[in-house]
Amino acid sequence: MPFARKEGLKIRIRHADIERRVRAVAGQITKDFKGQRVHLIGVLKGACFFLADLAREIDLETSIDFIAVASYGKKKDSSGQVRMLKDLDNNVAGLNVILVEDILDTGLTANYLLRILRQRRPKTLSLAALLDKPSRRLKPVKGDYIGFTIPDEFVVGYGLDYAERYRNLKDVCVLQPPPQ
Ligand code: 5GP
Repeated sequence: MPFARKEGLKIRIRHADIERRVRAVAGQITKDFKGQRVHLIGVLKGACFFLADLAREIDLETSIDFIAVASYGKKKDSSGQVRMLKDLDNNVAGLNVILVEDILDTGLTANYLLRILRQRRPKTLSLAALLDKPSRRLKPVKGDYIGFTIPDEFVVGYGLDYAERYRNLKDVCVLQPPPQ
C-alpha cells in the first residue's frame, strides 16, 4: 500500500495536475518577461519542489536564490510575527524578482518578504504561489501567479510538511484531522 494511504492522507491535487498547472504558470511568466531575465526567490523549505519544477519550465534566462523565515505567535492572530532565518545570497537590485511561496495562507509571510524585498530596489517584484487559501487571509496579499486556490484545509506534500514529514509526496494531500 502506498505510504500516503497508510498514513490516512486524502489526495487533493494529483501530481499530473500539478505538473500541468506548473507548466501553464511557467508559460505565463515566460510570456510576461519575454526577452528578459527573471530571478526566482524560493521560501524555504516548502517552496523548493515548486521552485525546482517551475524554474525548469521557464523558457528565459533564470537565476535562483533562497530565503528562510520563521513565524511567531499564533497564525490566527494578526500580530503573528515573521523573522528572517536565512537571507539571500545575492543582491536583487535591478532584477525581475519573483518570490516563490508554497502556499499563501494568512499572508503574513508574503507581506513581510515583499516589504523587505521592495526596499532592495528590484526592477519588478511579483509573487508566485503553488497554493492559495484566500479565506484565511489576515494581510491583503495577492499572488500574481497562482497554481491552485484551495479551501481552508491543512495540506501536505509537494514540499508542504507536517512536523517536517510528507514533503516528498508527489501529490498534495489533505491531513485529517488538521493539526491543532
Ligand atoms: P502565511 O504566512 O501565509 O500564514 O503562511 C505561510 C506558511 O504557512 C506557508 O509557507 C506554510 O509553510 C505554512 N502553511 C500555511 N498553510 C499550510 C497548510 O495547509 N499546510 C502546510 N503544510 N503548511 C501551511
